[in-house]
Amino acid sequence: AETLESRDPDIAAAIRNELGRQRDEIELIASENIVSAAVMEAQGSVMTNKYAEGYPGRRYYGGCQFVDVAEEIAIERLCKLFDAGYANVQPNSGSQANQAVFLALLKPGDTYLAMDLASGGHLTHGAPPNMSGKWFNALHYGVRRDTQDIDYDQLEAMALEHKPKLILAGGSAIPRIIDMKRFREIADKIGAYLMADMAHFAGLIAGGVYPNPMEHVHVLTSTTHKTLRGPRGGVILTNDEDLAKKFNSAVFPGLQGGPLMHVIAGKAVAFGEALRPEFAEYQKQVVVNAKALAETLIEGGLDIVTGGTDTHVMLVDLRPKGVKGNATEKALGRAHITCNKNGIPFDPEKFTVTSGIRLGTPAGTTRGFGEDEFREIARLIVEVVDGLAANGEDGNAEVETAVRAKVQSLCDRFPVYPNH
Ligand code: PLP
Repeated sequence: AETLESRDPDIAAAIRNELGRQRDEIELIASENIVSAAVMEAQGSVMTNKYAEGYPGRRYYGGCQFVDVAEEIAIERLCKLFDAGYANVQPNSGSQANQAVFLALLKPGDTYLAMDLASGGHLTHGAPPNMSGKWFNALHYGVRRDTQDIDYDQLEAMALEHKPKLILAGGSAIPRIIDMKRFREIADKIGAYLMADMAHFAGLIAGGVYPNPMEHVHVLTSTTHKTLRGPRGGVILTNDEDLAKKFNSAVFPGLQGGPLMHVIAGKAVAFGEALRPEFAEYQKQVVVNAKALAETLIEGGLDIVTGGTDTHVMLVDLRPKGVKGNATEKALGRAHITCNKNGIPFDPEKFTVTSGIRLGTPAGTTRGFGEDEFREIARLIVEVVDGLAANGEDGNAEVETAVRAKVQSLCDRFPVYPNH
């Protein structure tokens, strides 16, 4: 039989090299994870061939009896994970899940209130270059200067003043647990809808280490590929039947055409995995590891925004070492530690430079790293940063080479996809 290798050696080589990169580098990008072989098998399946516009039992195409099974199972498992009455598993991405909620609940020009990008929000929460910022009047709350945590008083004052139709909680770099009850109380004062974008912490909720916001919100959106450890994609959840109908219409035919049935099959597999007891153990370890990483970085002379983390993610404030986020991302990359530069609250640097990096433990924990390994990783990060601080933008090549060798031995002890 023809293989990918013989049909298309260039793409086969790119995929092989990407597997090598994932094996040989420590992945600290907080929004990434490593899916199971079962999830990949479902996603690489014949379901990619099927058109299935519509919803299970109500399709615009024939021959949907088996893709219906996959989608129904995905919905049922997802609802169970988050105690929800209704779910839509068709959004192709987290961005499209958010767009669908906007399409369902807002009209162009309507006002909504979300966390600002520099404080840890997301592009799709009303950033100026994004549709969510261009087509709506997006207003933003931020964090307090003293605690660096969400400024609930500012949120309340802005809500009372501007009467947004929708309030959005959640973001991409929020290390502390969000007070969803407080959010709901504020939303109720002005009759606004409350939406939580739990993309980053969905897996933590499913694993029982982060409170489930479902009881407080009108709608939850999420990606499926971060802490939840599924294929790339989005979902929408609600307990309100009328809203559920609106979200379904907004996803299809509002925004999308044929759903990616192979991805939905992969989502179903991942949700099944998330219902197992091992998943709760994994999520506990994600948080324990994040605390160990943060603590050891502080011991090494770095600051952590809010002083630590309750979740899988942290923002490292590099200013005590006098280095920038962009140079640090590159130096760590040379040492095979992968992360992203990230603005910190009230960052004096441009967003292309930044004073911070964002680190997360989901991918490393999946490959088996525990607290000891994450403490070692923290010490390696400090070595590289110190090299950068002493030698300027180009870093210290000797230190980086030595760290890369230690990274390799850690990676070799905890292989990624050993059977591929
Ligand atoms: N919402 C939040 C909070 C995110 O962090 C992300 C991912 O970066 C998204 C939405 C968008 O998801 P996607 O990249 O799948 O469009």
